[in-house]
Amino acid sequence: MFLSKKILKSTLKLNNFQRNMSLIKNKAYINGKWTSALNNETFNVLNPVDKSIIGSVPDMNCDDVNLAINSATEAFKTFSKTTAKERSDLLRSWYNLMVKNSEELANILTQENGKSLAESRAEIKYGNSFVEWFSEETRRINGEILQEPMRNRKLMILKQPIGPVALITPWNFPHAMITRKVGAAIAAGCTCVIKPSEDTPLTALALAKLAEDAGFPPGVMNFITTNLNNSPQIGKLLCEDKNIRAISFTGSTAVGKILYQQSASTMKRLSLELGGNAPFIVFESANIDLAVGGAMQCKFRNTGQTCVSANRFFVHNSRFDEFLQKFVDKISQDIKMGDGKKNNITHGPLIKQSQIDMIDHLVIDAINKGAKLHCGGKKLSDLGPLFYAPTVLTEVNRDMEIYHREIFGPVAVIHKFNDENDVLNEANSVNVGLAGYFYSEDLSQIFRVANKMEVGMIGANEGLISCAEAAFGGVKESGIGREGSKHGVDDFLDIKYLCIGNIKY
Ligand code: ADP
Repeated sequence: MFLSKKILKSTLKLNNFQRNMSLIKNKAYINGKWTSALNNETFNVLNPVDKSIIGSVPDMNCDDVNLAINSATEAFKTFSKTTAKERSDLLRSWYNLMVKNSEELANILTQENGKSLAESRAEIKYGNSFVEWFSEETRRINGEILQEPMRNRKLMILKQPIGPVALITPWNFPHAMITRKVGAAIAAGCTCVIKPSEDTPLTALALAKLAEDAGFPPGVMNFITTNLNNSPQIGKLLCEDKNIRAISFTGSTAVGKILYQQSASTMKRLSLELGGNAPFIVFESANIDLAVGGAMQCKFRNTGQTCVSANRFFVHNSRFDEFLQKFVDKISQDIKMGDGKKNNITHGPLIKQSQIDMIDHLVIDAINKGAKLHCGGKKLSDLGPLFYAPTVLTEVNRDMEIYHREIFGPVAVIHKFNDENDVLNEANSVNVGLAGYFYSEDLSQIFRVANKMEVGMIGANEGLISCAEAAFGGVKESGIGREGSKHGVDDFLDIKYLCIGNIKY
């Protein structure tokens, strides 16, 4: 009797959970309509906790994408004429709906990405903040009046929306990577074709539903869903289509380079936010407790699957043992892996099989070649197929694959150093430069090191640095362009110089 009551209760709870999921959509969104693929193909979306199916969405191909491009092109004719105030109001309504539906968005995000509910809630808040920010920035996109070198002329610079744009996003921040791009594009007056990752399309479609409810006109935001097989052709189409005037992409450096090459034929504006290989340096004067706190955040957030994750730790010889001990202790105290839906869980699984296989391979390769393991170093198969234990390695050298790679998983590699110049040379020795972190209590050193680090973003005595106000982006092969901040709209604007001559005063 007691048991059946319990089962009844949990079934009711599940039904309520599903019933409350009004934002889960199984169709794409083109020209203001919820749309299947023309050939009716679909693909399943999996929960990485146990690979169970949580939904299915259209598997679109280039025919469908052409419809989306046409829709964005048609809508641009009128949307480009809207006032900044009108766009601001639309973005604000979208933002308000996102805030109102934060809990459901977080639940969807946790289900398809696997990150804990606490992390999903943080992402929703962060992602929402871009829409709020750009609802404000749109009213500050101003041109310039110039000093004319001749008396009878008036010179000015106009800023105009570049045209319909394509936005391609990854799975590690399914909400924030969309809002950061769409917010800026809409603020500038552009219309969009949005292609979310095949691993996390449900969060994107939930955002489409809220955009529809917020009153965005048909064609202004088009969300297409597609499986990985179709992504290369779709990417090529978006790069080569002459109506699409800009592409904003967040993802791997390899795909970013393909898009860069493909865009040459149409001279498209490109904004590329690609991979990183962030150094995390702990200098002699560092506050070790602060450094350990920062290391926990920027190594293990999203189970290490972020492009700004610390990838190479360098700790001064004199503080090495202290840092290592405190870091390993903190990992065992603070990290509780499991199904992100559960309350006490801090970290979820990796996103997919290829990801966990790659992490496992890197760790085994390092250990076989002499690296020292301090914790973790194994799959946690009893939790599910994609869980990998938080891992710390030292004595890693150049012969090991992990030394050269962006790890994208919960594995920290810690090196020793003695000299500031040496460690900076090592930090700067890679082809990428997205984020970098260091801990020091020496003010001169803070300015010196910040100046010399070859990255686009720096956290000095801080491990979590992203926000809507900041300019997010990298140098070298980490990409082109900046997102967020007042600069985030630049990639979606054309500058037009206007000279009015022969004015009779
Ligand atoms: P990750 O390795 O983090 O999944 P990817 O660069 O493979 O990063 O994927 C990021 C986004 O790019 C996803 O939306 C994915 O579907 C898309 N994508 C993958 N390959 C291509 C391609 N050749 N052209 C365009 N988009 C692609």
